[in-house]
Formats: sequence, structure tokens, C-alpha cells
Amino acid sequence: MSTLTHLECSYCGKEYDADVLQTLCPACGKPLLACYDLEGTKKKWLRESLKDRETTLWRYREILPVKDKANAVTLGEGYTPLFPAKRLGKELGMSNLFIKDEGLNPTGSFKARGLCMAISRAKELGVKEVVIPSAGNAAGAMAAYAAKAGMVAHVFMPQDVPLPFRMECRAYGAQVTLIHGLITECGQQARQAASEHGWFDLSTLKEPYRVEGKKTMGYELAEAFNWDLPDVIFYPTGGGTGLIGMWKAFSEMAKLGWIGERRPRMVVVQADGCAPIPRAFEAGEEFAKPWENAATVAAGLRVPAAIGDFLILRAVRESGGTAIAVSDEALILAQSRMASREGVFACPEGGATLAALEKLLAKGWIGKEEKVVLFNTGTGLKYPEAT
Ligand SMILES: *Cc1c(COP(=O)(O)O)cnc(C)c1O
Repeated sequence: MSTLTHLECSYCGKEYDADVLQTLCPACGKPLLACYDLEGTKKKWLRESLKDRETTLWRYREILPVKDKANAVTLGEGYTPLFPAKRLGKELGMSNLFIKDEGLNPTGSFKARGLCMAISRAKELGVKEVVIPSAGNAAGAMAAYAAKAGMVAHVFMPQDVPLPFRMECRAYGAQVTLIHGLITECGQQARQAASEHGWFDLSTLKEPYRVEGKKTMGYELAEAFNWDLPDVIFYPTGGGTGLIGMWKAFSEMAKLGWIGERRPRMVVVQADGCAPIPRAFEAGEEFAKPWENAATVAAGLRVPAAIGDFLILRAVRESGGTAIAVSDEALILAQSRMASREGVFACPEGGATLAALEKLLAKGWIGKEEKVVLFNTGTGLKYPEAT
């Protein structure tokens, strides 16, 4: 099943045992990433074998961290559709526009991918009680998988989070604490509670396995495009787990001999009211300075400081991509345009990718024939006020 070998620090390169619970690198405080025996797997695991596998992200089990199948906590996550956006494409003069619809995941967002993997692996390593700071979708996803795994779940959310997020967490049986502040303050409180009570903290990139769940989006794209990756990927970026994960997936697939060296240009999309990555990208910096007074209706993008900032910036630069911010007005307009043209009722974060595409088309940064993927990261149904 899994070919997981060890964990490696994404910054200093130190190696760690994957079979005990790990958080950040004890040496430098940066995220740890999972490593697999790709050389050994390469001879045995051909991409053709995927044909007969389950239509969830578990079809890629060799490069997932869960060792015993009995520990896989699943609600049918992943393997989401990739829709050709023909009507929208026509309006924009584009012939190869696609939407990867992550709103169809369990709990209505791609957070299901990451939390499914984090909860499954935590279960495998003996965790009984978990905590997460979240702007919404991560909390709902964690609460659902924790319920299925029989774990006790604690959630710290900003008090202005839309009602549906609170409702679902409580329905899944999680303990919900509302915080006067942003995700950063929620993170501090979650961390403190975790150390006081011995709960395991599932914050973005503070444990190594959420990114492993989210990287499967990269595998799915390659598979859906018959191993010929798209030219450009638009990704609404908060903590950056999915973007970092897909970038990792591309390098893994190259080592498996499944794809060549060509990579998509990765486009980070953020909101004008919280754009630390575009600012750092333009300034040529390795790390992003925290954004002051972060504000946007796209709650998933309201991350003023991301612990994986240098990994996001590295992937964008290596790919020849860019980082761009759009206004809340533009992303809400784009959200309804995506719905009325393509039947995909996107979350505001998903709408932001379309708004960013329009901006980059106007600049001539994208060719009309290029194969472009917009990520709709969740359903629009959970944000009644914003919409
Ligand atoms: C969390 C979230 C994002 C940002 O995802 P990251 O991988 O953490 O950058 C985007 N959209 C939605 C709907 C989210 O919930």
C-alpha cells in the first residue's frame, strides 16, 4: 500500500521518523513534508493500473501516508470533475478553459482532501482528540472526519464566520469556540489549548499530512488531461496547502516517470484586502510579511501570514507563474458569472480565480489557446451574506 519512508524539513532538509507524531521541524520550525520510495515504486506501479481503482483520492494509495487500510477514514473525497468551461471560454475568447470543481467534495470543499488524510494518519498514530483553527471550511471538514473516526474535535473560528460553518461543526459534534479576531488569533488559541490539554493540532502545514491529501489534485489533473498538464493553474491561495501539494505532486509524478519536465505556470490568487503573497512576489522576497488589517469576504483567502509562504513563492517562481490580487466586488461578480454561465455555484474564493483570469487576459499574460484550469475550491452555498 503506502510507500511512505520518512519526513523531511521543507526548509533545512533534516530527516525525521514518519511513524511517530510530528509537527513542525524541531530544528528550524518550518513544515515537514512526506517522502516516499518513488524509485522502488516506479518499477511496480504503472499509471495504467489506475484505470480499475476506486474513484476517490485513495486511488493513489502508494503515494499517500496511511499504511494500514483500516485507518483510512473516508467519505468519498477527491476525484472531482474537471469541466470544460465552454460558454465562459467563448465569452473570454478562450478555447481551452476548464473548471476543477472541488465544491463536490464531502462537506462542500477541498478541505476534505487534506483533513481526510490528516485525520486518517493521526488515527493511525494513536491520536484521540484534535483541534483546528479555521476560517470555516477546514473546521467543517475536520469535524466530519473526526466524527467518522470517533475522535473528539475542537474548533476555533473567528466570530464573524458565516452561520452554515458553525452549524455543520456543531452537527458533527465538534466543540466550537468563537474568537474575536482573525485566523491568526484562532491559531494562537488553538495552539495554547492543544498544549494545555494534549490535543493534536491540525493547523495548515503544522502537521505533515494535510498537504498529502491536497496534492492529489495534481495527480487528478494529470490523469484527467491524459498526462499532459495544463499550461496555467489559477489557485485561490490562503495557507497555500493545495498549491504546495500540487507542486510536490508534479515532482513526484516526474520521478515515477508519469509526466515529463513541463510544468503549469502557477497563479496565486488573493484578495485586495489580504494579499501578502502578491506583495512578496513583486518585492522579490523569500518570505511574505504579515498583512495588516486583513479583510475580504473570501474567508479562505483571509490568511495574513502563511507558514508555508516560502514554499508558495518558490513554486510560483519556479513555475514561471505569478501572484495577483482581485477586489471583493470583482470576485463576487465573477462568482455569479461562473454560476450563470457554467452551472457551477462557486464559493467567493473560486470566483476570485475567474476575476484574476480576466485581469491577466487583459494584460496579455495568457494566450487565448492556452489550456487553463480555474480551481473552484468550494460550494457557494455556505456564504449566504457574501453572495
Ligand atoms: C482554505 C480555502 C482556500 C485556501 O486554500 P489553501 O490551500 O489553504 O491555500 C481556498 N478556498 C476555500 C474555499 C478554502 O476553504
